Amino acid sequence: MQDQPDELVHREVPSPNWNERACPISMLVLHYTELPFAEALARLIDPAAEVSAHYLISEGGEVVRLVPEEKRAWHAGASAWRGQRDVNSASIGIELDHPGHAGGYRAFAPAQIAALVPLVHRIVRDYDIPRANVVGHSDVAPARKVDPGELFPWEVLADRHLCLPRPESLELGDPFSNDGAFFLALERFGYDISDGRKAVEAFQRRWRPEAIDGLVDGQCRAILFQLLLDRERGLAR
Ligand SMILES: [Zn+2]
Repeated sequence: MQDQPDELVHREVPSPNWNERACPISMLVLHYTELPFAEALARLIDPAAEVSAHYLISEGGEVVRLVPEEKRAWHAGASAWRGQRDVNSASIGIELDHPGHAGGYRAFAPAQIAALVPLVHRIVRDYDIPRANVVGHSDVAPARKVDPGELFPWEVLADRHLCLPRPESLELGDPFSNDGAFFLALERFGYDISDGRKAVEAFQRRWRPEAIDGLVDGQCRAILFQLLLDRERGLAR
């Protein structure tokens, strides 16, 4: 399908900046260019720049294909999502022509979003991409990137079931004052929580032995979240 004529693609400008994928496609990553359109296009096909994406969409809604979908484009850089650290191999990358935060951050052009939606729909359908894997560059590289940013209309994609919507009912409330979240964290840390009280007792026995009552309290929460934080930061393995 990738190299067939595609009614959603208006122009082909082949970029040399790609290599072979190391895994199947399971993600879609959205970006903004933070450059004027012509400059962005030139950079995405410049071998010296060593960056690319599969698609670039102008503010006017022109869809340019740069890299065939079966190839690995170079858009995500050092990134990670749900354990996948080779995001470029796992994803389709779409660059949106946009001045970005550096150029006077503003709403995305309606014509651009109108061109993006059917393209995302077609890609998600072709590769059976889970909604949870339709993400922004900032989601997969939070320490380095902010694109496409807070004005990107995720709700337009969510309304069409193309990405996850913002949750409306927040069952846990403040997770720091709630046992349900404690158990989720306890499981993440490694405990089998099929018997919740026993799991809390085991946790206390190991980490807070001066009071083993099987009841989740503030000190237990604080200890567990600190353990998780330290592990996530690589301070403990
Ligand atoms: Zn980006």
